[in-house]
Amino acid sequence: MSRSTPSPNGEHFSTLAVHAGEARQKPGDSITDPIFCTSTFTFESTASLLEFIEKKLPREEYGRYGNPIEKTVEKKLAALDGGEDAILFSTGMAAIVGLLTAKLNSGDEIIFFDECYHRSREFCVKHLGRFGVTTHQVKTGDYDAMERAINSKTKLIVSESPTNPHLSVIDCERFAALGKKHGVETLIDATLATPYNIRPLNCGVDYVWHSATKYLAGHNDLLAGVLVGSREKLDPIRKLRGILGSINSPHNIYLLIRGLKTFELRMERHNQNGLAVAQFLAAHPKIEKVYYPGLETHPYYDVARRTMRGFGGLVTFNVRGADWKQTARVIDAVKIPRIGPSLGGVESLIEQPLVMSYFDYSPEDRKRFGIDDNMIRMSCGIENTQDLLDDLAQALAQL
Ligand SMILES: *Cc1c(COP(=O)(O)O)cnc(C)c1O
Repeated sequence: MSRSTPSPNGEHFSTLAVHAGEARQKPGDSITDPIFCTSTFTFESTASLLEFIEKKLPREEYGRYGNPIEKTVEKKLAALDGGEDAILFSTGMAAIVGLLTAKLNSGDEIIFFDECYHRSREFCVKHLGRFGVTTHQVKTGDYDAMERAINSKTKLIVSESPTNPHLSVIDCERFAALGKKHGVETLIDATLATPYNIRPLNCGVDYVWHSATKYLAGHNDLLAGVLVGSREKLDPIRKLRGILGSINSPHNIYLLIRGLKTFELRMERHNQNGLAVAQFLAAHPKIEKVYYPGLETHPYYDVARRTMRGFGGLVTFNVRGADWKQTARVIDAVKIPRIGPSLGGVESLIEQPLVMSYFDYSPEDRKRFGIDDNMIRMSCGIENTQDLLDDLAQALAQL
């Protein structure tokens, strides 16, 4: 793990978050990147158009293929993950859909660890299935089962790390080695970890995927997604994005760049709040179980300690002896976290996975996906740590 390794130019994480990808001197001598609010880009003459077509002139052409501010944020995001290139998409889901549709053909197979973002699973099973792609799922963390599921048709193996909402942590080196051994590409959804807490490319993973909607943007005010990897591997995906049109608006990209400036500062507080909330809940008599990779009792604590710089702001816990309605009372009693899906923003959020994401699932499916009636997921924002603990204490006292 090269957690504090500087970039090839010697800059450290926060310096990259502030400066990477940006020109030193910008249009209008502005310190911030300008928003080019334009759908198209014009050519001075037929000669300059021909020069562009013959690839002699690096510049923009039409908004669906790129915008200067998009190039800036892509370079910044690539630098943060230690990757050669990055592609920005309109949402996290648009990014994974772009990758899967660019890379897979009819007859191909993919394998997921089973704790994965429910919409990626849905896209693969319901939609890629219609195009002749087969999806397999194996138990999270069972590398032998993953290896047994690999065959000559397997093109990609996918894992989240940490997973949501159980916060299981994948050993990226082992995962990457498994792919390399069988000539299969590897993808990690590192949304919950962010490049601050893990660097899967350094472990040899081929693609890192983030929902930039979460910690990277960090302010609950936009949606975006990003894929990071080698230019060669990303190139076909970039070309397909130009056709799909799953791009972000220049205004949104400006907000993403602005959010990234404070990325390291925010992550430090998210990590601190996550750990403090997890430790507080683990010691609370009304709490039956806490899922947090920074707790020694967590089944993946050793992997997490070895591979993560911090453990993030997401904490999942079960309320002792509560049915789903009693659990909802805790959600309704907190005063700081708002009730809502999503995570990774400066504002804390709280939700009951059963109600928020799995209400229309059968009890058997919920059990299969490990969603308990008394489970709560809290995304710790960057509020004062003690205020969050006091709020949880008063909410639990009402049970
Ligand atoms: C939110 C999320 C996604 C999807 O990203 P969007 O930006 O909402 O499309 C994928 N994976 C994880 C782990 C997420 O939390």
